[in-house]
Amino acid sequence: MSLKNKLATTLLSSAVGFAGIFGATAAHSADQTYVTIGTGGQTGVYYVVGQSICRLVNRQTDDHGIKCTAPSTGGSVANINAVRQGQQDMGMAQSDWQFHALNGSKHDTFKSQGKFEDLRALFAVHNEPFTVVARADSGIESFDDLPGKRVNLTNPGSGTRGTMEVIMEEKGWTNETFKLAAELKSAEQAQALCDNKIDAMIYAVGHPSGAIKEATTSCDAKVIPVTGEVIEKLIAENDFYAPASIPGGMYKGSDSDVATFGNAATMVTSAKVDADTVYQVVKAVFDNFDRFKRLHPAFANLDPKQMIANGLSAPLHEGAVRYYKEQGWM
Ligand code: GLU
Repeated sequence: MSLKNKLATTLLSSAVGFAGIFGATAAHSADQTYVTIGTGGQTGVYYVVGQSICRLVNRQTDDHGIKCTAPSTGGSVANINAVRQGQQDMGMAQSDWQFHALNGSKHDTFKSQGKFEDLRALFAVHNEPFTVVARADSGIESFDDLPGKRVNLTNPGSGTRGTMEVIMEEKGWTNETFKLAAELKSAEQAQALCDNKIDAMIYAVGHPSGAIKEATTSCDAKVIPVTGEVIEKLIAENDFYAPASIPGGMYKGSDSDVATFGNAATMVTSAKVDADTVYQVVKAVFDNFDRFKRLHPAFANLDPKQMIANGLSAPLHEGAVRYYKEQGWM
């Protein structure tokens, strides 16, 4: 499928009106709608996506009355659950966890809540190769060298953690497989790696990412391949996974391309979120698409038609459909 092809190639707030100054009523601010987009750690790419989208939305607050914020969060699974509970309007989520949330499968928190039938997709963004970085002195050369080492599995609630657990289950690994199974947040792990508190960090993330740059420039560390039978099986059995590679030369210590697998980063919301609001958010992104693409190198190759067709399991939100139809994209 096309997502696989796509993955294989790897990869202010708004001005306040002057109404108050002129003694007019505060009707303008009373009409404001607030939109929250859940992201991830501050050294990831979700945070850049969310901040970028909000910046574009907030340029037009005077016209549509929407104010957008994109706080740092625990990642994909936390975002989907916050959208489900109405605590966030939108959120970034890995394509695997979008699928499993919709179907009430795989992840304990999704299984216990059952199918999230109101889950809606907006679009896919960049690809997220599953990335392992190990200290050069750790003796780790491949993914299968991780047992017996100090590995950061990342915080519960991150999509990375969920995907790591999927691989661990396939391999028959548990937390006891590792000398240390740490639960540091994505933004904390580069420092822990370079302080020699862990041997390896993991991150399902777009590239280049601040966290991987931090790790590979602060100490001797390299990107480790994630390949083998289990990975091939995951790719073969699941449309939301595909082969991926991390380009050589992008990070210090990793001169050649490194093979791994990955998912797509997507943005999701709930059917309960107002269609006009969703329409305006989507419009802000695609009306200003050249500007958006310039905000991060991982966005450089994005194509709107692919973004609304690939990597999405949940139905598109009706507010997004309205905009895409207007554009003739569907
Ligand atoms: N895919 C990661 C997660 O859900 C987050 C990546 C990012 O923050 O850019 O855990």
